[in-house]
Amino acid sequence: MIFRQLFDRQSSTYTYLLGDSEAGEALLIDPVFENVQRDAALLRELGLKLLATLDTHVHADHVTAAWLLKQRLGSQILLARAAGATQADRLLVHGERVQFGRRHLEVRATPGHTAGCLSYVLDDQGMAFTGDSLLIRGCGRTDFQQGNASQLYHSVKMQLLSLPGHCLLYPGHDYRGLTVTSVAEERAFNPRLGGDVNEADFCGYMNHLGLAHPKLMDIAVPANLRCGQPEGGAALPDEPTWAPLTCSFGGVWEIQPTVLEERLGDGADAIQVVDVREPAEFSDALGHVPGARLVPLSELAARAGELARERPIVTVCRSGARSAQATVLLQRSGFQAVANLAGGMLRWRAEGLPTEGGAA
Ligand code: FE
Repeated sequence: MIFRQLFDRQSSTYTYLLGDSEAGEALLIDPVFENVQRDAALLRELGLKLLATLDTHVHADHVTAAWLLKQRLGSQILLARAAGATQADRLLVHGERVQFGRRHLEVRATPGHTAGCLSYVLDDQGMAFTGDSLLIRGCGRTDFQQGNASQLYHSVKMQLLSLPGHCLLYPGHDYRGLTVTSVAEERAFNPRLGGDVNEADFCGYMNHLGLAHPKLMDIAVPANLRCGQPEGGAALPDEPTWAPLTCSFGGVWEIQPTVLEERLGDGADAIQVVDVREPAEFSDALGHVPGARLVPLSELAARAGELARERPIVTVCRSGARSAQATVLLQRSGFQAVANLAGGMLRWRAEGLPTEGGAA
């Protein structure tokens, strides 16, 4: 099984990727709207098809990427029937299974933080994804979105802390840098719900937290009730329009070799190909992309003025690593339309594309 814990800095939200590598199928739990490029790049790089996104609840602090991922990758949108959202493909209730390859998640209703909170338990009960029902040494608030402290107390005790002690618990957020806990740890050390705390203690505590409402609540809740569909089809995150590009997991825009080859010599608004290798490499056996201009990486910042600002730039090196660095340098110098040639000259040659210089 493939497992990745991904983080959103803005809202301290964790997104979880679960994949069956043999079947090539994956799920994402609680994806964040602004991170779609990152998550799609990771799925692509891991060779996984995204079957579905699962939200643990209707979030108040960030917008889900469920709808956007469905547009981009064709994934299904899953969340609780009790969440009352539109746009979902499948409305989940307690006891259902969500399959990915030969593995599955078991759906457990854990209301209390919101009325529609679900937790997802891996088939072997080695991991559970608790959303905001149970946080590391804490739990989600219960003072809005039909929250109910008494309900949360029973949800956590009966559905989560009843799992095997070794079961790892992955929360929806952490604000202090912690990433994972276990059932045994939370039974022992959760100050709100562990040890000898009873329902009256818990409700007394939760009903007097006096927290301010989340900053994004007025935007996030209505958007999440549409599973993250922008209101009236409003703007999606900016994707470059000058060529079909992909974003690497490292956040660098990339152009595929065949796409660049088709666009070479397009006239006045043609792409400028900038080769950032050393002069000796430019004329070695690999050769270079026809029409490429040689500007070694070490000289790029000083010589950026030689490049046309109004034309897009594709950077090239041997493998794509130095040229990725070059895209960052050029963006810092104010160039907007910049992409890296994916795989560099090695991929370009391997795909049999035309070169200048180099061995036959
Ligand atoms: Fe929440």
